[in-house]
Amino acid sequence: MLQLRPNCECCDTNLAPADEAYICSFECTFCPVCTNKMAGICPNCGGELVRRPVRPANKLQANPASAVRTFKAGCVTKTTN
Ligand SMILES: [Zn+2]
Ligand SMILES: [Zn+2]
Repeated sequence: MLQLRPNCECCDTNLAPADEAYICSFECTFCPVCTNKMAGICPNCGGELVRRPVRPANKLQANPASAVRTFKAGCVTKTTN
């Protein structure tokens, strides 16, 4: 089952289960903006990023999204401002 991680690994933006998000085969999870910047390639594993399927709300009650935030400060898209 997909973890449905709650944030983008690159910019730490919140990603609700129903939000548009992109994942690789290891479920590294990114927002659409970061996915664009990385040209659809996962910076962790080099794999392709694909649209994360939305889990229907009535399934989230029995199968809730992960609450574990993954954030890598060294991400290629991190800006220093
Ligand atoms: Zn992001
Ligand atoms: Zn990956």
